[in-house]
Amino acid sequence: MSTSWTVVDPSTAEPLVDVALASLSETDDAIAAAHEAFASWRAVSPGERAGLLRRFASVVDAHLEELAGLEVRNAGHTWANARWEAGNVRDCLNYYAGAPERLFGRQIPVPGGVDLTFHEPLGVVGIIVPWNFPMPIAAWGFAPALAAGNTVVLKPAELTPLTAVRLGALALEAGLPEHVLTVLPGAGPVVGDRFVTHPLVRKICFTGSTAVGRTIMAGCAEQVKRVTLELGGKSSNIVFADADLAAAAASAPYAAFDNAGQDCCARSRILVERPAYDEFVSRLEPAVRGLRVLDPREESSEMGPLISARQRDTVRGYLDEVEVAFAGSAPPGAGFWVAPSVVTTEDTSSRIWREEVFGPVVAVMPFDDEVHAVALANDTDYGLSGSIFTRDLGRGLRVARSVEAGNLSVNSHSAVRYWTPFGGYKQSGLGRELGPDAPMAFTEEKNVFIAH
Ligand code: NAD
Repeated sequence: MSTSWTVVDPSTAEPLVDVALASLSETDDAIAAAHEAFASWRAVSPGERAGLLRRFASVVDAHLEELAGLEVRNAGHTWANARWEAGNVRDCLNYYAGAPERLFGRQIPVPGGVDLTFHEPLGVVGIIVPWNFPMPIAAWGFAPALAAGNTVVLKPAELTPLTAVRLGALALEAGLPEHVLTVLPGAGPVVGDRFVTHPLVRKICFTGSTAVGRTIMAGCAEQVKRVTLELGGKSSNIVFADADLAAAAASAPYAAFDNAGQDCCARSRILVERPAYDEFVSRLEPAVRGLRVLDPREESSEMGPLISARQRDTVRGYLDEVEVAFAGSAPPGAGFWVAPSVVTTEDTSSRIWREEVFGPVVAVMPFDDEVHAVALANDTDYGLSGSIFTRDLGRGLRVARSVEAGNLSVNSHSAVRYWTPFGGYKQSGLGRELGPDAPMAFTEEKNVFIAH
């Protein structure tokens, strides 16, 4: 029996629309249909599959404003972010449209015959998406998975199903055959769990919390199911005293508060070399106060609300435990707002320093030297991203190589690029998404020997 979920506009707390949640039997039916569609989808010629993905990309491009508008209302994203996110779906599709004709195997010299390798698609791939970046995270899974010849069942987060549902419809409009990409709004423990337990789903791509990721990995172990995990983070922005402090301080709020801090890559720890600490903090304050935290429907808004009342209350719980050094503003009203907040601390055991807050809160701590900075940055179970500000590029590279995280940037806070690999060390994840190798992660490598 289906139930429904009321989708809410987080900037007003007003209901937007009711979305039906798939039941267990509807999930089973969708997986069976995706399995049946796999036989013909994998047989579509490489050039034709590439053409369909390019057509999907151009249909997404034609609906960019509509998709972005849905995310502004459903997730409280700013227009600038939401347009980037919809464009990212288009770009991922175009990039991986280059893959079907390039899934090369190898010819390996052997005695007595010929040895060949093939990259065969897996079958049905289950993609489980969180609420913080509903469009890009969906596309990072489905674009390479489809390109490699798999069919996809995709579950958006309960809170943010609207763009995924629309993308599923646009795929059909672009000419993708039915059941090649199926979007199933539903509850995690029902639809998401069924992806894990159903034997015909051959791989899970999960993005979400580390706690749920662990249970997904354990569930996949039952069937030795392939799994990619993109989980939480507690990333450091390391500022050395020789850095361009004005640039470092001006950019730090965006690295911590983009998407209201609900970003797995948020640089929620700022480490500042002691001689530059006071100057950095005094430059950071006006940058934080100047952030335009506005109704996301206003074009100039730089930060919107949190996704839900629950998320807002979680973040407030962290702030209640500490003294806020300074904060920006947030509009009044019924939406789920929290002002961007800065905490200064030297307590490495505090929750604000150790846990992923997933809200607009950043903690600033001084460090003594390079070794100390790396030790502080690595003192976490997570390892997703990080930034290093220094004019000494040798040190920038050395520190980037020493921080145990998958995505580092020097003198910038680079966003995720679809053509470079992305993923976490330690409990931030398992496997990599994006970049040139992503389609390979949706294949099995088969070796065939032919005797002379
Ligand atoms: P979450 O783990 O609660 O939910 C993520 C998804 O999993 C949702 O679709 C949810 O319905 C589903 N789910 C929940 N329980 C399930 C179960 N038992 N079986 C199968 N599926 C289940 O995470 P969230 O609160 O939606 O997202 C926030 C978290 O995601 C943060 O920790 C953040 O760091 C992380 N995240 C990581 C990345 C990354 O790339 N590393 C990107 C975005 C978000």
